[in-house]
Amino acid sequence: MLVKLLVANRGEISCRIMRTAQRMGIHTVAVYSDADANAMHVQIADEAVCIGPAPSKDSYLRAEKIIEVARKVGADMIHPGYGFLSENAHFARLCEDNQIIFVGPPVAAIDAMGSKSAAKKIMEAAGVPLVPGYHGDDQSPEILRAEAEKMGYPVLLKAAAGGGGKGMRQVHQAGEFEQALAAAKRESMAGFGDDQMLVEKYLTQPRHVEIQVFCDVHGNGVYLFERDCSVQRRHQKVIEEAPAPGVSQALRAEMGEAALKAAKAINYVGAGTVEFLLDTDGSFYFMEMNTRLQVEHPVTEMISGQDLVEWQIRVASGEELPLNQSELTINGHAFEARIYAEDPDNEFLPATGTLHFLQPPDESDYVRVDTGVRQGDQVSVYYDPMIAKLIVWDEDRDKALRRLVKALSEYRIKGVTTNIDFLYNLVSTRAFKQAQLDTGFIDKHQQQIF
Ligand code: ADP
Repeated sequence: MLVKLLVANRGEISCRIMRTAQRMGIHTVAVYSDADANAMHVQIADEAVCIGPAPSKDSYLRAEKIIEVARKVGADMIHPGYGFLSENAHFARLCEDNQIIFVGPPVAAIDAMGSKSAAKKIMEAAGVPLVPGYHGDDQSPEILRAEAEKMGYPVLLKAAAGGGGKGMRQVHQAGEFEQALAAAKRESMAGFGDDQMLVEKYLTQPRHVEIQVFCDVHGNGVYLFERDCSVQRRHQKVIEEAPAPGVSQALRAEMGEAALKAAKAINYVGAGTVEFLLDTDGSFYFMEMNTRLQVEHPVTEMISGQDLVEWQIRVASGEELPLNQSELTINGHAFEARIYAEDPDNEFLPATGTLHFLQPPDESDYVRVDTGVRQGDQVSVYYDPMIAKLIVWDEDRDKALRRLVKALSEYRIKGVTTNIDFLYNLVSTRAFKQAQLDTGFIDKHQQQIF
């Protein structure tokens, strides 16, 4: 077993990774920016090294610098968390070149899934069902428009290099096409330095259902069931749950097998998530594969009883998967709510300030709080304004939902505006209780939520 792990991240995920590593007897190394000198992840780590000024590009995104630190402290493994360098093939390659284990898939797998259009070509060849659409190389506006007309409006324009819901535009009729294309290209160029576009049939009431997969270097692969992440705002997840309400055993197995087929098509290793859109008629379509640990992985941990970070570390060390498919079972139901420093009354603009008072609900077998901040800490402009992830579990959905409502009502934060009341109102709606989920949920129930 390895002895030293560097976590190339900050905040809750850095803390969460280090806790598992420490439990496994692994020495942990944190990296931090000037702004994070007193941060929780620095305090938890056995060792910590400053890597630069506050802006991410000068610290957490400095691939070469992080490798240099890893070499200096003698780390044998780097966990990138999510965001930052986690899906950066160059960084994974640098690790490889320096004989440091990257806790993630092989470079080629990151590369293959880095572009949504390239990914769709691979999945098409592997026989994984795709959202009907165009993902070709000819990017002339006339071709894109002709393709849109062929599949019929509404369509969705999507940045091939996109992520985080950016670079997407719905087009409802031919007259809007030109302007929407220009806007999506602009946003994509600004955000990702590339403006290749996909055109997809826009599904009007889909659910976002994703499958957690895990593969080892010995050719074994399993799926750890699904998460429903349909409750979204601007295509970004707000509440996640597992298992997905109403998904039958047969559909679960079918989606799980399709996800494994996707993973095998790119010789995947480690933790990955295959995202599908599930249509009202029960058909499902591949959207993309995320080649990292997801923010919402805890709901899978709660229903499977497994520690996914431990699995990642074991697989990265060359071990076989801890369990096979028949040994994995679903127990109960879990929710995750993302607690953000943001203002729901002001277009969800990120909020900053000092967390003068911070009192999360008590943790237990039923309630888990993954956070990277303590009372007195600053929420700064530099990083993602997520304060915590509130995760609850119980035997069934109704009971788990009652836990979630209660825990949200107990969560107290003063000093920084948060979305807690918004989340409370959302999960208290009758529609949410009845699991009437689709990606338009928040828009549809605006009146009860705001
Ligand atoms: P990103 O990488 O930016 O997160 P995704 O491709 O994962 O983009 O899509 C994000 C969300 O956008 C999905 O969860 C879904 O809500 C919506 N979406 C994506 N593609 C479609 C589609 N073809 N029809 C309807 N909604 C879609």
